Amino acid sequence: MRDKWQERLSESPDCLKSAWRQQTKVPVLDLEIGGDEFVTMAGPCSVETEFQLMATANHVRRAGARILRGGAFKPRSSPYAFQGLGLEGLKMLARARRESGLAIVTEVMSEEDVPMVAEYADILQIGTRNMENYSLLEAAAKSARPVLLKRGMVATVAEWLRSAQLILDHGNPHVILCERGIRTFETATRNTFDVSAIALLKQVSHLPVIADPSHAAGHSDLVPALARTAAAAGADGMIVEVHPNPDKAWSDGEQSLDFSAFDEMMADLEPWLAVRDSQSSRRKTAQVRALVAVG
Ligand code: PEP
Ligand code: MN
Repeated sequence: MRDKWQERLSESPDCLKSAWRQQTKVPVLDLEIGGDEFVTMAGPCSVETEFQLMATANHVRRAGARILRGGAFKPRSSPYAFQGLGLEGLKMLARARRESGLAIVTEVMSEEDVPMVAEYADILQIGTRNMENYSLLEAAAKSARPVLLKRGMVATVAEWLRSAQLILDHGNPHVILCERGIRTFETATRNTFDVSAIALLKQVSHLPVIADPSHAAGHSDLVPALARTAAAAGADGMIVEVHPNPDKAWSDGEQSLDFSAFDEMMADLEPWLAVRDSQSSRRKTAQVRALVAVG
């Protein structure tokens, strides 16, 4: 890595690649995030009903997802919008985990809820609105669960990595960075998908990087293209919103894929995953050569 990145990101030194730390692999049940496999996390924005969650879990598993997403605690733009089912939602996720075998990723919004959410979830999601909530980050770090850290919607890469550094400082090495789009002057899309952040982080950081094409796009018909772009940029996976009936979703229906759109996206991703694999093996060979040269 060139020195200028080391300098520019010097406030988060432990997030950066070094001769002895090239790639963190986060273990989750029987898989690893940050390994060779592009890991797809999929499911509804919010956990709504047993039927909705189980139908989605079974469907996305068959189509190749490895992790089930679903919010039980929802940070909403409007205080009057649905705020999530809370503990009842966590229990539904636990049941979906038992029945589908999929690992669970779900958001935790407050420090006090960390022990309860950590009891049910395999990965704790920190939402965009909480990226700089340091007491929440500290509690999540101490839970010993992997932490999926979404990028703050107005956070620079350096600020985002500072939050990741804080989690590492509290003894938790299992941080997954998630690019979910940032706020710009553009309003056609919900956010602006910053694919350069993915490319940059894959170059400078050893932490796994995934994409959230759903919250970046805000429109379901754009999600597959952003997913393909993320794979081509070298992302370690993605988190995608899927709903059996997006028109009836209690949150984020306009950006949720229905089952057939999800199947189509997964099938269309194949050639892009091949591009990703060939790039990553080329990178690994170059790294080995560089290490051998250093002696
Ligand atoms: C979500 O994943 O449903 C969510 C609220 O995401 P973000 O924090 O990226 O807006
Ligand atoms: Mn959502």
